[in-house]
Amino acid sequence: MSEDKKKLTTSWGAPVGDNQNSITAGSRGPTLIQDVHLLEKLAHFNRERVPERVVHAKGAGAHGYFEVTQDLTSYTKASLFAEVGKRTPLFVRFSTVAGENGSSDTVRDPRGFAVKFYTDEGNYDLVGNNTPVFFIRDAIKFPDFIHTQKRHPQTHLKNPNAVWDFWSLSPESLHQVTILMSDRGLPATLRHMHGFGSHTFKWVNAEGQGVWVKYHFKTEQGVQNLAPEVAAKLAADNPDYHTEDLFHAIDQGDFPSWKLSVQIMPLEDADSYRFDPFDVTKVWSQKDYPLIEVGRMVLDRNPENYFAEVEQATFSPGTFVPGIEASPDKMLQGRLFAYGDAHRYRVGANHQSLPINRPHSEVNTYQRDGQMRADNNGGGSVYYEPNSAGGPAESAAHKTSPYEVGGAADSVAYDHNDHYTQPGDLYRLLSEEERTRLVQTIVGAMQPVESDEIKRRQIGHFYQADPEYGIRIAEGLGLSIPEE
Ligand code: NDP
Repeated sequence: MSEDKKKLTTSWGAPVGDNQNSITAGSRGPTLIQDVHLLEKLAHFNRERVPERVVHAKGAGAHGYFEVTQDLTSYTKASLFAEVGKRTPLFVRFSTVAGENGSSDTVRDPRGFAVKFYTDEGNYDLVGNNTPVFFIRDAIKFPDFIHTQKRHPQTHLKNPNAVWDFWSLSPESLHQVTILMSDRGLPATLRHMHGFGSHTFKWVNAEGQGVWVKYHFKTEQGVQNLAPEVAAKLAADNPDYHTEDLFHAIDQGDFPSWKLSVQIMPLEDADSYRFDPFDVTKVWSQKDYPLIEVGRMVLDRNPENYFAEVEQATFSPGTFVPGIEASPDKMLQGRLFAYGDAHRYRVGANHQSLPINRPHSEVNTYQRDGQMRADNNGGGSVYYEPNSAGGPAESAAHKTSPYEVGGAADSVAYDHNDHYTQPGDLYRLLSEEERTRLVQTIVGAMQPVESDEIKRRQIGHFYQADPEYGIRIAEGLGLSIPEE
């Protein structure tokens, strides 16, 4: 052993005498329980995995920065957007949704597009997807929806019957299903896809005036997709293709970038817009609310350690900063609870103090204790509020903006039920070649469904979006359009 090598130690810092041979009674053993280095090594190994995420388990991440390119401070006081040229460090995690941690990157699935901005007023997480809409619009349906995307409880196989049964009985999914089955359901790489905040959020400016906002990250690499045959081959030959591509691109100095634009809606328009602007199965037409550029995101640094950074990263759409607030979107409201809860379960109550999640700005709370508290736990400082000890105090200037609510507390369905216009608009904006591939993909995906009733029900939805869309799928499946 060369003299300048560091000494191997146990996790409690004592030098290790032998890391190749366990302590045994004689040369043949048995092994002695007094080999505490061996015990610790095996026991830690057993605990190397934290529970994988129930959704978005397979991911790739990178560090980078956001730079403001246009002054939108008349809409938001968020320090992240404070002045043109300002840079804020960030970490991004891309992911597939349904597959397990070891699953293939190149499957047809929405891609998670989660950004953690380390702003100087705390962390801001924008936890979106590469699609502007979602399958459902009320969080109460989420566990059922995800069950259909996961494995059958008996066969442990993916189950197209459940997938299409649920979708056909939840017609609000049609828009997202159309996007998913289109060419963009198979992005060429994580660099060649757009990202969206998907939900509507609220921006509030320094005067306390609010607007509704939607976020769009547009890839500066251009949108590129994989042909299904290529994706299938990659899934077999190199299941980590997207992870590898992102790492290599950044490693070689080919830094991917996205323009961030927003759509801004005056608060009062929410009552009169022809779609419910808080319904996450709908977009706001860009003809009504054009994109306004605000900045640029660049990814320029790979993680040093996958587990410490990508796996332990915890994103929540409720991680807001002053100037950015929630909207009444029922899917968002459910996520505000569910993401934090998932992290407390998966990583632990103190997940926010891990280096990847820790804000770069000062954190002063009265939270104490809990598993794996790795900082000084507040030392001997005052640990309750209000107090006479001059402890950290609230600042009224940072109260969230009030908004009017009304109506009976009740489980009420959405009252806008046009699930068809927007998927139809998307179908109609596709080229003839794109439509043909869309239809082929849907027909291929629906063929294994055993029940004609489910297939007919779903064909009815495609037909209502656009008769040609429905007819072509019905023909592909050898079925007729259902009578009304
Ligand atoms: P616009 O014509 O103003 O916008 C069309 C949008 O569709 C653009 O964002 C464009 O993004 C995107 N787009 C273009 N080609 C495709 C494609 N092959 N697959 C998926 N998206 C594509 O119309 P509207 O805003 O009125 O929207 C019409 C339809 O476009 C919507 O019903 C929706 O399905 C879809 N769409 C709308 C978005 C929105 O925020 N309004 C966002 C994404 C899709 P790009 O040119 O960058 O590819």
